Amino acid sequence: MQDPVNNLEELVRAFDVMTVADLARAIEEAADIEDGETVFIDDLGPGVHVGVGSRGIEITFPTTVHEVLALAAEAERLNAEEDATFRIIAGDPDSSVIIHVPHSSREIPDDVRSDIVLDDEALEHELDAMTDAFTDVIAEHAAAASGKRPWLFVNEQSRLVVDPERFPDESEEMNAVGMGVVYTRTSTGEPLRETDAYDEDGLISRYFEPYAAAFADLVDERLAAIGSVTILDLHSFPLNALPYELHGDGTRPQICLGTDAFHTSKILLAEALHAFSGFERATDSPFSGCYVPLVHYGKSSLVNALMVELRRDLYMDEHFQLVEPATTPIVEAIVKLIAAIEPSSFMPAGLAGGYFNCVIAEDQ
Ligand SMILES: [Zn+2]
Repeated sequence: MQDPVNNLEELVRAFDVMTVADLARAIEEAADIEDGETVFIDDLGPGVHVGVGSRGIEITFPTTVHEVLALAAEAERLNAEEDATFRIIAGDPDSSVIIHVPHSSREIPDDVRSDIVLDDEALEHELDAMTDAFTDVIAEHAAAASGKRPWLFVNEQSRLVVDPERFPDESEEMNAVGMGVVYTRTSTGEPLRETDAYDEDGLISRYFEPYAAAFADLVDERLAAIGSVTILDLHSFPLNALPYELHGDGTRPQICLGTDAFHTSKILLAEALHAFSGFERATDSPFSGCYVPLVHYGKSSLVNALMVELRRDLYMDEHFQLVEPATTPIVEAIVKLIAAIEPSSFMPAGLAGGYFNCVIAEDQ
């Protein structure tokens, strides 16, 4: 394995195969490349590359079999990172809070883009309208400023790829306006995808399902570690209602807190109203509900959840740019909310459920 290899012919021999094509297959097996991913070796120059999928890494001779296998594994890892659907940023081991950021990305993979019928300019406008821009930045600031660092779960793809917050069946009310898991209509009701010309099941299995499964795993892991979990579902909404909104005639305060009858405890809502007391705020207007993975939805009362929707003019200018100083009071309010809902650190794990059991002596 560690004998020096000076060129491609020697590499073929080192793997005990006859051809470059066989070499690629041998590396695929030896480097334990995921099923469905194809290793290639190219010497089309300059240099010889080992790659997975479309990503090649140059081999620097002299090398070793061991090094070539490591390069193949690295190419696979970089690929996986590139089409990652989500990113989890670890919090403190004893944190029970997960901040969910589902709509902050504008990323659309090329093959998904090709099924969208808008031209580039129209797509940019749609992304401006639909993206919860900078909610990832605000979540990261809040996490960094929290005494006990919460976990972050961030969608790395645009909601125009799939919307992880929609129900994947007929119970989804947004299906009525072409905005179920896979949107077929824009925010103004124009066609977004040609109906039947895209692979809905493919998008769901490639993006929606792994996302939901990873989120559910993170919830289970926090439940096992702490005994309860609180999901803060962070969004933003425009000052003026978009045509797609089903409840666009509701009030549009600076902060909208979305609740669920089963998963939002009275105490959680009270703490949020208190933490955001420096802002105009309302409950379930103009948007209602909050994200809970389907496997826990309506089942586990130890999974608490609340949606926090920030009105965009609070922290963005008319050119959709972030007004950094304006984020400070928002971040402070989120930090305050996180501190209020973390189970007391001195409480034995068996009594977890934490703040549910605490007496809240606030001016609510
Ligand atoms: Zn959103």
